[in-house]
Amino acid sequence: MLDHLSFTAPEPKTIAGAKGDWELVIGLEVHAQVASKAKLFSGASTEFGAEPNSNVAFVDAAMPGMLPVINEFCVAQAVRTGLGLKAAINLRSAFDRKNYFYPDLPQGYQISQLYHPIVGEGEVIVDMAPGVARRVRIERIHIEQDAGKSIHDMDPNMSFVDLNRTGVALMEIVSRPDIRSPEEAAAYVVKLRQIMRYLGTCDGNMQNGNLRADVNVSICPPGAYEKYIETGDFSHLGTRCEIKNMNSMRFIQQAIDVEARRQIAIVEDGGKVVQETRLYDPDKGETRSMRSKEEAHDYRYFPDPDLLPLEIKQAWVDDIAASMPELPDEKKARFVRDMGLSEYDAGVLTADVENANFFEEVAQGRDGKQAANWVINELFGRLNKEGLNIETSPISSGQLGGVIDLIAKGDISGKIAKDLFEILWTEGGDPAQIIESRGMKQVTDLGAIEKAVDEIIAANPGQVEKAKQNPKLAGWFVGQVLKATGGKANPAAVNELVSKKLGE
Ligand code: ADP
Ligand code: MG
Repeated sequence: MLDHLSFTAPEPKTIAGAKGDWELVIGLEVHAQVASKAKLFSGASTEFGAEPNSNVAFVDAAMPGMLPVINEFCVAQAVRTGLGLKAAINLRSAFDRKNYFYPDLPQGYQISQLYHPIVGEGEVIVDMAPGVARRVRIERIHIEQDAGKSIHDMDPNMSFVDLNRTGVALMEIVSRPDIRSPEEAAAYVVKLRQIMRYLGTCDGNMQNGNLRADVNVSICPPGAYEKYIETGDFSHLGTRCEIKNMNSMRFIQQAIDVEARRQIAIVEDGGKVVQETRLYDPDKGETRSMRSKEEAHDYRYFPDPDLLPLEIKQAWVDDIAASMPELPDEKKARFVRDMGLSEYDAGVLTADVENANFFEEVAQGRDGKQAANWVINELFGRLNKEGLNIETSPISSGQLGGVIDLIAKGDISGKIAKDLFEILWTEGGDPAQIIESRGMKQVTDLGAIEKAVDEIIAANPGQVEKAKQNPKLAGWFVGQVLKATGGKANPAAVNELVSKKLGE
């Protein structure tokens, strides 16, 4: 099914140090907020931007005696995500308590799945260039609760806490250290986000913090990574540092680069990289230590006694599998195979599920290439220019389809179609009615065209003589006829008649 793709070996970013070349090794832990109306263990709303502390159930606030009740929908969303990453689904998983103190964590622990995650090994096919892809292995996906938010900048003397986020379901998606360059890391996050948006399991809004990544970076000499892949032995790799909480593709790439250079300088100087958690400061363009392994929390993980192990049935997983939508890679392959689109165009049209749906509505029952051309060049081009997107598009798929139908029927030329597009954009309306009421319909009435051709020929005897010597000059007559008919004469018919008449 993916035979339209060629899979490439990783192309590691190589950085030349003072003493030799170094390669990058990167593994990502992506935290994706589960798209769900209610939280993981309570019925409180997950609505973004609500009045602080208005979406807090007693259990989210850790009131004494309150017990968590698992939200089946969130579990289904994690399973759906796992299936979308071609991953193993674990029919038995379990929740653990990760204990730590923080003001925005009233329970004093986060419920997570350390030992028995719900999703096991899978993969993400990362698009590197049109038609060229790489596989990044997924180690696991587990479900966990999000924490609340501390607000330190509203008052000089006090901090505030907003518990609306507390208990919202997250999926932590852990990759193997298979990513080899900053660009690949960004492409990986883009693809993961795209898949989850198709699945409807995470809306992937990075500004709202619905998708954040912890980025693990290490460096190694050329050849070392291949030894790790051969043996599975991590000791061939360098010591990694983890850069926490990245929520922009640009910063992810910058942070990887500066962190790798920092590590190279340390190692070449005879030092050792210390495994630690770091933060990226985009203003200074550097990563800073947040906590080292020695001062790492002892989370005192233990199975949550309030929650039974989570057992799901294969039949339930099968039901979810049966309701899976077509995923981006499959959709893209279909566009290339069945509609004859280029790999590049298919990539543009499938990048976002809303765009892909819109395009499919336009292409339905019409020429795929022509539909792609209008959607990408005219519509997306214009939307982009005006800072709009497909949801705010003034032109609907029905209207655009209508324009294409009129071209196909020969009612309008490509040039008039662009004028019609402009009218639809600014005034709206029905394409067929507009060309009727504004007299934009192409004249295919051969009698009318012939009359116009005859008139031009009669009025320009000198040109006729010249054109008889040099057939290339026939173009001038075609131009004159089109002008005389206000661009509405069918160009093919005009061409034919002009050559015929000049030949007489
Ligand atoms: P921990 O549980 O301590 O966070 P994990 O084994 O879960 O450790 O690894 C966390 C992330 O770090 C994973 O995404 C993994 O791929 C990545 N990782 C592990 N070793 C390395 C390394 N040497 N260089 C870069 N990334 C690594
Ligand atoms: Mg981890």
